[in-house]
Amino acid sequence: MTAADVETPAPPAKRPRKPRQRHVVRRVRERASYDRSDAYAILDAGLVGHVGFAVDGQPFVIPMLYARDGDRILLHGAIASRLQQQLAGGVECCLSVTHVDGLVLARSHFHHSVNYRSVVAFGKATAVVDPAAKAAALWHFVDAVIPGRAADARPADRSELAATSVLLLDIVDVSAKVRSGGPKDHPDDLSLPVWAGVLPLATKRGTPVAAEDLAPGIGFPDYLASRATG
Ligand SMILES: Cc1cc2nc3c(=O)[nH]c(=O)nc-3n(C[C@H](O)[C@H](O)[C@H](O)COP(=O)(O)OP(=O)(O)OC[C@H]3O[C@@H](n4cnc5c(N)ncnc54)[C@H](O)[C@@H]3O)c2cc1C
Repeated sequence: MTAADVETPAPPAKRPRKPRQRHVVRRVRERASYDRSDAYAILDAGLVGHVGFAVDGQPFVIPMLYARDGDRILLHGAIASRLQQQLAGGVECCLSVTHVDGLVLARSHFHHSVNYRSVVAFGKATAVVDPAAKAAALWHFVDAVIPGRAADARPADRSELAATSVLLLDIVDVSAKVRSGGPKDHPDDLSLPVWAGVLPLATKRGTPVAAEDLAPGIGFPDYLASRATG
């Protein structure tokens, strides 16, 4: 018998891998939620999101203000901005929002952690073209950032509307992930003479500072006063 007569055993058939869903959390899955109401509560508590998209294989992640409107995220910016042009062209994008609630100090370096609430949302955006719809979206945007402000300040005029791009990002897939509570130390470390616990962190409103050129006699609007003390 020659070597040519020996049949090479066929390699074991590879089990087909399940396609990985882009928004499914893989590590510490019990912290994840796919319930839109959980994700939306985290989105609504935030101001700044990081918007990711790729152009010719080059990834970009740009910080931006955002506002949620139902199942969509409103973004706005200069009409000439690369992000606005790319997203209006229908590229896939990803928005990520994070609140850091505390630093978790464990007895060991390894078990240090962070308390957080975060969301990652995927979808495609469309540009709002109709001037009336654009004005309405910007009104909603201003009020989402500072409730009560839209009715107080002057709305965008025709040329400001023309210079502004407004995008509606459809939230197609979304995940939330939350960590809360104290350190999860190894049992052997519990007797170490090291302080352990949580250092809470929060973004706080400050006291409003009036513009130097504010016309005399204009007081804090109610919506601002209540936020300043709230
Ligand atoms: C808290 C916050 C909120 C913002 N909100 C908005 C918003 O609502 N709308 C809006 O249009 N813009 C917003 N910006 C600005 C935004 O991050 C971009 O700078 C802006 O959109 C400019 O876009 P561009 O097309 O000129 O830049 P691009 O052409 O997209 O960027 C060119 C390069 O400039 C650099 N760059 C761009 N922006 C930043 C940045 N912020 N920090 C560091 N490097 C940067 C990067 O290297 C990037 O690749 C916000 C920024 C911050 C920090």
